[in-house]
Amino acid sequence: MGSLKILFLGTGTSTGVPMIGCHCRVCSSTDVRDNRLRTSALISWQDGPIERNVLIDASTDLRAQALRHGLERIDAVLFTHAHADHVHGIDELRSFNFIQHEEIPCYGPPDTLEKLRRRFDYIFAETAYEGGGKPKLSLHPVEPPFELFGKTVEPLPVKHGSSDVFGYRFGPLAYVTDCNAIPPATMEKMRGLRLLVMGAVQRKPHSTHFGVDEAVAAIRSAGAKKGYLTHMNHDILHSEVSAALPSGVSLAYDGLIESVDE
Ligand SMILES: [Zn+2]
Ligand SMILES: [Zn+2]
Ligand SMILES: [Zn+2]
Repeated sequence: MGSLKILFLGTGTSTGVPMIGCHCRVCSSTDVRDNRLRTSALISWQDGPIERNVLIDASTDLRAQALRHGLERIDAVLFTHAHADHVHGIDELRSFNFIQHEEIPCYGPPDTLEKLRRRFDYIFAETAYEGGGKPKLSLHPVEPPFELFGKTVEPLPVKHGSSDVFGYRFGPLAYVTDCNAIPPATMEKMRGLRLLVMGAVQRKPHSTHFGVDEAVAAIRSAGAKKGYLTHMNHDILHSEVSAALPSGVSLAYDGLIESVDE
């Protein structure tokens, strides 16, 4: 029996916490768990002799996250959607190309990958080389479950405002960041989870994200044994909000590692 590992590389909303110029109690907190880089996670598992590292989203803070955790190999990237905080670290993938000497496969919703192709034309357009180097990435649009290094990865379509974005399930573990509604068909795909990571941007509901209570309710409806909240803004003081959570649900924080048996 193997296990899956999740490393929370960043648990902050699009601005990160602290926010530039903000002096609120969370932005000036000395609790390291209130210091949140942009949301991203690394899912790892053993594939024969190799430990595979699958990065979910290339956050704006990817470079800092890789240095902080000594990350030296990325076997694939799964994109949830094309909002800036989830993709604007894409150029940092170049450093992994230098080490690995191979293209890095990127998976995601078809419309997200199309947006990446247009926005980062210096990477993806055949004729666009302008010097300065560019990451070597291949784009693989996905919808149905797909195989990745011996594991089945199941896309979980969810609503994020007017957008349809993906979370991802890896056997007993699922990761859903930006979300304000889970369609019934996706809820069905989330049955039997041991660990569910859900985005919760602030305490109150938000037009494109779950608030804390809604994210907790989603973890409960899915029946997951354990839940973690991520993608939090400066409304959430870790110690205070943690203390009020029901048992089985916790706030994630940057650098947290959890393992889930398969
Ligand atoms: Zn986001
Ligand atoms: Zn603040
Ligand atoms: Zn978003």
